[in-house]
Amino acid sequence: MAKETVGYVNLEWTCPFCGTKNPGPNKKCSNCGSPQPEDVKFEQAAQETLIADEQLIERAKSGPDVHCPFCGTRNPAGTKTCANCMGDLTDATAREKGKVVGKHRKEAAPDIACPYCATMNPANAHTCSNCNGNLHEPTQPKPAAQPAPQKRKLGVIGIIGTVAVIAACIFIFSLFFRTDDVSGRVSSVEWTRSVAIEGLVPVERGAFLDEIPSDIAVYGCREELHHVQDDPAPNAEKICGTPYTVDTGTGIGEVVQDCQYRVYAEYCSFTVDEWQQVDMATERGTNLTPIWPQPQLTADQRLGGEQEQFEVVFESDGRRYVYTTNSPSQFAQFEMGSEWILQVNQLGGVVAVEPAR
Ligand SMILES: [Zn+2]
Ligand SMILES: [Zn+2]
Ligand SMILES: [Zn+2]
Repeated sequence: MAKETVGYVNLEWTCPFCGTKNPGPNKKCSNCGSPQPEDVKFEQAAQETLIADEQLIERAKSGPDVHCPFCGTRNPAGTKTCANCMGDLTDATAREKGKVVGKHRKEAAPDIACPYCATMNPANAHTCSNCNGNLHEPTQPKPAAQPAPQKRKLGVIGIIGTVAVIAACIFIFSLFFRTDDVSGRVSSVEWTRSVAIEGLVPVERGAFLDEIPSDIAVYGCREELHHVQDDPAPNAEKICGTPYTVDTGTGIGEVVQDCQYRVYAEYCSFTVDEWQQVDMATERGTNLTPIWPQPQLTADQRLGGEQEQFEVVFESDGRRYVYTTNSPSQFAQFEMGSEWILQVNQLGGVVAVEPAR
């Protein structure tokens, strides 16, 4: 995110001795004359208007004010001696800077009524235009409401439900993994072998124009978001977040916004020939000597992936058990009529086989 300065606004500070609100650049309270103490923070005005005064803007940019170690008076950054007591400012502490004081208050704030004579005054006024009364009587902060203690309830129904789900899982697990040994005799075998036939097929693809080789014809181009960056660029859309005010430590706030640039580029469609499966050749047999299909290929075809599957049917006391494998070497052992021990799960599926001794 690139930070952008929108402008500068006056902040305020509240005198801890008499409660008067003072413009940020003022070092002393306009009512009682007390200097702003180091621990009194700058706040936002009810309504923030960008200032045009170049001198104030320069001050905001020059760095945070420092507090005199002897009398506490605020002095601009870079000052050698205190304007109030002439004390040496070498060891003076600088005010905090860079803290966000809030969302920029650009909108007009409602007028405020004087608590003494009810005269309406502009939102940013500090004293009443009629009676000179303080428009911002310090208010007592309300005690924070006690958060209600969180009740943890795990109902009996919940516990029973959980137990039931676990029991069901164990039951299903046992169906698949608990096996019984059954002796069986090979009654039939079948093998299937297939080979994919691939051809060059025109396929529509899309890419940004700068990524497509120049000898490929493109069509259907349109502007699409290519990437987002912090720096400006031609053909970029600027997107900024809500402006907010930052304390510069000088009584003047810097209004900033975080911006990014959405860069657009031409995204086009094009057609390329790609190898894709167009057909499948399959051989089947009911003996123990499987072969691979040998399809006739045209000039623009080639062979793709191969698949093989072998199925053996066993008979045991009048029941049929089907066993499948992908291993041709295992398949070769299933002589017709040979005896095998089958591991059969609770659903009747054959999980493994081994020759009977
Ligand atoms: Zn005061
Ligand atoms: Zn001083
Ligand atoms: Zn008044």
